[in-house]
Amino acid sequence: MKKHLILILTLSQSLWSQNNNITISVKPEKVYYEKDQSNQYLNFDFLIENKSSSNIILNTVEIAVYDQNNKLARRDLVNLYSRESLELSGAKPIESGKGKLFFNPFPIFTNVIPLNKIHYEFSFNSEDWKENYFVSLDVFPELYKTKTNLIPPVKGRVLVWNGHDSNSHHRRFDYTDPLFVKRGTTINFQRFGYDFVVVNEEGIMYKGKPKTNIEWYDDIADDNNDYYGFGVPIYAAGDGIVIDVRDEVADNRQVSEEEIAKNEKAYGGNYVIIDHQNGEFSWFGHLKQGSITVKKGQTVKQGEVIGAMGASGGSLFPHLHYELRNGDGAKRVEGLPSYFNNYSRVLGNKKTSMTNGLINSGDIIESK
Ligand SMILES: [Zn+2]
Repeated sequence: MKKHLILILTLSQSLWSQNNNITISVKPEKVYYEKDQSNQYLNFDFLIENKSSSNIILNTVEIAVYDQNNKLARRDLVNLYSRESLELSGAKPIESGKGKLFFNPFPIFTNVIPLNKIHYEFSFNSEDWKENYFVSLDVFPELYKTKTNLIPPVKGRVLVWNGHDSNSHHRRFDYTDPLFVKRGTTINFQRFGYDFVVVNEEGIMYKGKPKTNIEWYDDIADDNNDYYGFGVPIYAAGDGIVIDVRDEVADNRQVSEEEIAKNEKAYGGNYVIIDHQNGEFSWFGHLKQGSITVKKGQTVKQGEVIGAMGASGGSLFPHLHYELRNGDGAKRVEGLPSYFNNYSRVLGNKKTSMTNGLINSGDIIESK
């Protein structure tokens, strides 16, 4: 039986009401949202740091959304009863002296909601339920307009195996895990990533006979060559200058801590990074060993072949990790939203031609 908890929330008018015992920071600091025909998508999370002497439990999160005139447009909440896990990374509770990621439980709003300001109220209790803590903060999200003219970097029929929606593994990257803390990772550099795979008409990426019914996990010890995508050309998504290239890594779906210690980008195996010279950088990861056709310092045009799809680095199977980011490296960069031109969405029998479109996990696209 859960103990009953009576909450007395004091609604704070302040911009940032923190508590000496608990601090909450918005990650990343700059909050962007994306938009399609129906919805607005927020992509940020909270880092909760427990500076109190006891272990704490997050029990309720309440939001209030305000328009430009500071008028209320929506209220909502989740609590222990409606969502037991409250989307914390790892297990509850949050130990004294530790930090933990809390995944934003309100990531989607329909287009009718004016997303000017979102006010958050967090309430916590100590593990023994003797203490209550309240923290409130405001977030002012900004609609991101991609500056670079981008096209999908893989042609043919492509499945966005994993994008950056709230449930995607890119989004759920827990950099508070001791492994990543040891590597010095303090932000989610893959927040807006895509894993593109080439698929057939049925959406299957593997043409051999999988050893299990699951085609994409590395424990099935399958052959890279059995994937439709292995070795297909990868194209520059936009114009720019190549600022980094790595080409010698085997397509063995592995990365070691030693490699990462030497090069923070080694997780991507073989990669090409293009600086679009407007604060946006394109990342192409897990490329095929020896396939890269561009050199550091070279100018590239949109649609130019830069390499081939592979399975190098931390890759489960042959695919392209593509992402727009705000810099080079993997420790001090953030992902950015990216909208693409000149492709079709495959919707059953129908194909819808897209310009400036948003794609995400599970979407099937085609481009020539
Ligand atoms: Zn990826």
